[in-house]
Amino acid sequence: MSHARLLAEWDDLLERRPTLREPLAPYRKILDAWAQWASDRLAPLRLSAGDCGDRWRRGVPLLAEAALSLAPADVEDLLAASLEFLVAIGEENASLRRFAEAWDRGEVGPPALLPGKGRIGSVAVQELVGLSQESLGFLAYGSLRPVLDAYFAECRQHASDSLWDLGICPFCGAPPGWGDVGENGQRRLACHLCAGDWVFARLRCPFCGNRVPHELARLDAEEKEEGYWISVCKACNGYLKEMDRRVRWNAGSALVEDWGSPHLDLIAARAGYWRAIPTLIQLRESR
Ligand SMILES: [Zn+2]
Ligand SMILES: [Zn+2]
Repeated sequence: MSHARLLAEWDDLLERRPTLREPLAPYRKILDAWAQWASDRLAPLRLSAGDCGDRWRRGVPLLAEAALSLAPADVEDLLAASLEFLVAIGEENASLRRFAEAWDRGEVGPPALLPGKGRIGSVAVQELVGLSQESLGFLAYGSLRPVLDAYFAECRQHASDSLWDLGICPFCGAPPGWGDVGENGQRRLACHLCAGDWVFARLRCPFCGNRVPHELARLDAEEKEEGYWISVCKACNGYLKEMDRRVRWNAGSALVEDWGSPHLDLIAARAGYWRAIPTLIQLRESR
């Protein structure tokens, strides 16, 4: 995805929701950093359709078996923007300082931010510097999004709706950050870490796989906004914000809609649900 387009969509969303312009202003610097990142510094992953299919049939996201080698300098500008964002929130500044110092000493590098089984970022690094899972997760996608987006650019064409039915991204392995229902009524989950998306069953929790209908519910906004809802799972207490693109045909990309709807996160958080991919509001509300 073009980051210039993401910026234009972001400006458009803030036009539509003027009361959110001020609280959401800090995201702009992250989007600027993404737009400025030169994608030609990284060679894209080259896999044939057959090689992708082989991994997906085994339930393995492409990143898990790819030899992605990132130097700290490749992501430093992106990391700086994300760190600045979290420092402005101000909840974990001592831990963020430890993270930055460990990074400067070379003890922590880009691999610490990659997704692993069931989580984003390294447990060891989280313990080393004392950061919350939310903040480390935010640093991860703030620092890696344009990198992984460029890395998978050539593999996207091989995406297959029939080979992958897991609740994690088939490209990078991160949990979904948003859900979209499109023209054909199909549900697609969106990955904020690499900008990938994939088809997923409508009556199933992407976080724990639960399919029990009465344990899967929808929360609506207080002033109901047509086309938006929050899918919750009463088994794992996870939630995902979603939208019907047939109703909201002029909406922005998944990430823009997610960052631009903090009022829905508040509803979910107050009802006791958690999300796998943190946002600003959740970073503030979660502690
Ligand atoms: Zn992904
Ligand atoms: Zn669940």
